[in-house]
Amino acid sequence: MSPIATPPSPAAELIATEHELGAHNYKPLDVMLTRGEGVWLWDIDGNRYLDCLAGYSAVNQGHCHPRILKALVEQAGRLTLTSRAFRNDRLAPFYEKLSELTGSHKILPMNSGAEAVESAIKSVRKWGYEVKGVPEDEAEIVVCADNFHGRTIAIVGFSTDPSARRHFGPFAPGFRVVPFGDIAALEAAITPKTVAFLVEPIQGEAGVIIPPAGYFAAVRELCTRKGVTLILDEIQTGLGRTGEMLAEEHEGIEADVTLVGKALSGGFYPISAVLSNSEVLGVLRPGEHGSTFGGNPLACAIAVAALDVLVEEDLIGNAARLGPYVLEALKALPKSVVNRVRGRGLMIALDIEPAAGSARQYAVALAREGLLCKETHGQTLRISPPLVITKDQADWAIERLGKVLSREAAAGA
Ligand SMILES: *Cc1c(COP(=O)(O)O)cnc(C)c1O
Repeated sequence: MSPIATPPSPAAELIATEHELGAHNYKPLDVMLTRGEGVWLWDIDGNRYLDCLAGYSAVNQGHCHPRILKALVEQAGRLTLTSRAFRNDRLAPFYEKLSELTGSHKILPMNSGAEAVESAIKSVRKWGYEVKGVPEDEAEIVVCADNFHGRTIAIVGFSTDPSARRHFGPFAPGFRVVPFGDIAALEAAITPKTVAFLVEPIQGEAGVIIPPAGYFAAVRELCTRKGVTLILDEIQTGLGRTGEMLAEEHEGIEADVTLVGKALSGGFYPISAVLSNSEVLGVLRPGEHGSTFGGNPLACAIAVAALDVLVEEDLIGNAARLGPYVLEALKALPKSVVNRVRGRGLMIALDIEPAAGSARQYAVALAREGLLCKETHGQTLRISPPLVITKDQADWAIERLGKVLSREAAAGA
């Protein structure tokens, strides 16, 4: 009997449409998700997965958190957008909440993470000219190799990842790159024209790279001594991910400017902010910067609920307790497959031994076992579930990670 051709599955049809009509700037795993709740995601065939990416930490509060959903629905039925041409009654409560939780004195609300980074760059340059006295158009900002701060032209211009920047030039001048974790290189790069050092507390996209102990204390001291603004990009590390509200707390320092995004929305809607506990944001005057959606009432209501959930459900404490537990469990995996494990709180990564296969192969094999992870840089897998994960759910994930990461991909995937 000749085999009967099977009709394409609904998932295959959606993938084909995406392929035809969408720009190919992502290479997703072929799971067609349709529903989420807490740490769980379901695909259109009803298969359930534990989410180990959490929207790159945008979904720290778990998928479709009922309390954030309620805030969204209530606010959406009342008022969504006024633009900043007028005032709205949700903005001040949002400022108050964020200020109370982070100790910041001035806040600039934006939407995406990249916009928060761009806004910080603009503000700190202006501060450099008006307060520090740097000659016009000569401000310099020091950044780190292997940084990830977003995808706009200015930002990819100071990326060191060839695929992020190749053929996208010309780029904005005024940036110097130093190795991450190297205090001597930072000191050597600072000149009288340096207005800021922009850095991630832990480099997320680079593969959860944690700097040497004492690095940030030395950075803080150096920046203060040289009159350089320390900008910490906490868009991924902030809001509980590492087991503190802000990752800077592990280092016992305070940034002058802190960038938050991702989990500020609980995954509902893009919301970011520049937080300043210095004079930097004070240089902005009416008309010099803005955003149609920045600080809109819907975003403000969502962000207040997202922050309340983080604090009142003790998600930060949960990350601090479960992170080391998961990390220890992963350290027991065979070195022939997992040659290194590192992390802080629930921001964890493991490196796959190249001889055992690629991280992508393991991500595919893990998806078959009901765990969704994303590879980064060929050999690294990130484990960063929503912070609502329970110990039982963590054990469930550890068991499956153990099963898949104990055998070589060639045999298993
Ligand atoms: C995700 C991320 C950004 C960019 O955020 P978008 O919302 O994607 O623009 C910037 N910095 C860090 C550290 C990030 O993880």
